[in-house]
Amino acid sequence: MAIDLHTHSSASDGTETPAVVVQRAVEAGLSTVALTDHDTTLGWEEAADAARAHGIRLVRGIEVSCSRRGQSIHLLAYLPDPKHPALVAELARARDSRDTRLDRMVGKMAEDGIGITVEQVRAEVEEGATAGRPHIADALVTAGIVANRDEAFGRFLGNDSRYYVSHYAPDPVRAVELVRAAGGVPVIAHAWSDTRGRVVDDELVEELADAGLLGLEVHHRDHRPDAVRHLTDLARSLDLLATGSSDYHGTGKLNRLGEHTTAPTVLARIESMASGSVVVEP
Ligand code: AMP
Ligand code: ZN
Ligand code: FE
Ligand code: FE
Repeated sequence: MAIDLHTHSSASDGTETPAVVVQRAVEAGLSTVALTDHDTTLGWEEAADAARAHGIRLVRGIEVSCSRRGQSIHLLAYLPDPKHPALVAELARARDSRDTRLDRMVGKMAEDGIGITVEQVRAEVEEGATAGRPHIADALVTAGIVANRDEAFGRFLGNDSRYYVSHYAPDPVRAVELVRAAGGVPVIAHAWSDTRGRVVDDELVEELADAGLLGLEVHHRDHRPDAVRHLTDLARSLDLLATGSSDYHGTGKLNRLGEHTTAPTVLARIESMASGSVVVEP
């Protein structure tokens, strides 16, 4: 039975509620799904209730935004303690900064006559959820300016767009240390995706491994065969776990649940190394 360790709900920029993501995971034939919303654990409780009701295992996680010298790095954190004070504080700081950044991006777009308001963007974000560029995209879709998120990113929201504004995010070494301190298992997400700028270079992966990194997401739709080979070798040489997952965002992206999966032995290692929280059993 398939294991998919990377999905998003409306607690961040997925288009479906946590309960619906879990239901879709069951429909996709998964035995285990991880909910890994950006910089928040907001969806954990709803997802846990749904997992128990639907008879599927739930790995509670977070996709932690990190940044070094302008490069964005995403760190998956599996089974951390959601109440660990330093981790909670760091995530709140990133979410607050994302709110300010969203206002600034909308302001820049308004100067160029792209007429959506901050209120229209806010209307696309669930109460308490992590705000991101996909919500600006949704407001542009609602306003009839673009047809879908992809067109919005292509025309207005990409990393090299004139409207792009960065937000606060911790250095990845600090994030790895925080996740470990919170009893979680840190895994670099889509390290060789080049859809968001540079790939994570090997030196940084080595530095993070020294800091306590435990895995690399190897199988992901943004990774071409050469990337998969490279990351498989790198994981082996640094004694890191190799995972695979869909990075499902509901209807916000083409990614299908279970399109990439993680081996049961790898999940067992993740569970054995985690001490912050446990897998929700059906
Ligand atoms: P942010 O975290 O606000 O910087 O926005 C990045 C998020 O936008 C990531 O979670 C991506 O999955 C999503 N994203 C990036 N490019 C696209 C795209 N072309 N279509 C839909 N979502 C995208
Ligand atoms: Zn996302
Ligand atoms: Fe990501
Ligand atoms: Fe993701």
